[in-house]
Amino acid sequence: MTTNIFTVRQWPVLLAFGLGLILSTCHMLYLPILEGFNWISLLSEGLIASLFFVLMHYVARKKSGRLVYSSLMAGLLLLFIAFLTDALGEVFKQPPQLTAVLEDASELLGLVLLIIGVNRWIKQDDERYATLQKFAEHDALTGLFMRRPYQEKAQSEFDRYQRSKSQFAILMVDIDYFKLINDQHGHAAGDLVLKRLAGELQHSIRKTDMVARWGGEEFIFLLLDVDEGMCFQLAENLRKKVESLSTSIDDKSIQFTVSIGATLSHKEDISCDHIIDRADKLLYRAKRKGRNRVEINMDD
Ligand code: GH3
Ligand code: MG
Ligand code: MG
Repeated sequence: MTTNIFTVRQWPVLLAFGLGLILSTCHMLYLPILEGFNWISLLSEGLIASLFFVLMHYVARKKSGRLVYSSLMAGLLLLFIAFLTDALGEVFKQPPQLTAVLEDASELLGLVLLIIGVNRWIKQDDERYATLQKFAEHDALTGLFMRRPYQEKAQSEFDRYQRSKSQFAILMVDIDYFKLINDQHGHAAGDLVLKRLAGELQHSIRKTDMVARWGGEEFIFLLLDVDEGMCFQLAENLRKKVESLSTSIDDKSIQFTVSIGATLSHKEDISCDHIIDRADKLLYRAKRKGRNRVEINMDD
């Protein structure tokens, strides 16, 4: 599909720009035929200035907020006035001091406004980028990080671990019989349970740790600088906390439990996926052993 860049309303502007460009080129080259015609300089530069004005209007109106738009437009307008003052001063032979003061004042103010506008525009772009990044990295339902940012952080932690001694732990957490919650109370109730649990999980970690939604009703933790004892205690506390939770939906209270597979990084680990895989296997061992329990380390 082809896109028409210029609308019918923009064509006169482009035409004016073209004409202005030709005239100003003639003016710049000092073509003998134009000698002494100050109005040609006035016209050509004026046309170019108006083109910038209109183009900026189109760009800034579509891509920026009100503040950016107003400062850019006001800035350009003042620069335009500065140019007109200069040009008209030349044509009508105004006292030079008066035109100089007027020109300089509007030029200065115009530039300040342009700088404010551009600066705000850049900031706005940064804010937009941050919002987009947040959307791209966070799960819409629970607000937790999604799998990819988790993998990136876990990978960088794994790389750091190669050079240091402090171990990190990975915990895989899965809701027990979650399908039953959906079946008995409906999908919306299931969503509420996921949100409630996500809130608790997020609450349970330290600033340096990370929790993410691995998929469906499965969550994953990255705990930094822990040993086996601390890791087990953390996982066990989490399991007990969830066991005691009760989420009320339509005057009914829903209780649920989680199974957890927990493992620490070892020097023999060849990749981060290797550790995640071990946590996953431990989780399924917890499921096999009856659910609502923590399994840590492989002894088979
Ligand atoms: P187990 O104890 O073995 O983990 O059993 P389970 O029922 O929890 O596990 P299973 O894999 O059989 O079912 C998981 C269910 O989670 C199936 C799927 O429909 C549901 N699910 C996945 N994502 C969502 C979601 O975002 N919202 C809701 N409400 N349900 C979801
Ligand atoms: Mg489950
Ligand atoms: Mg599951």
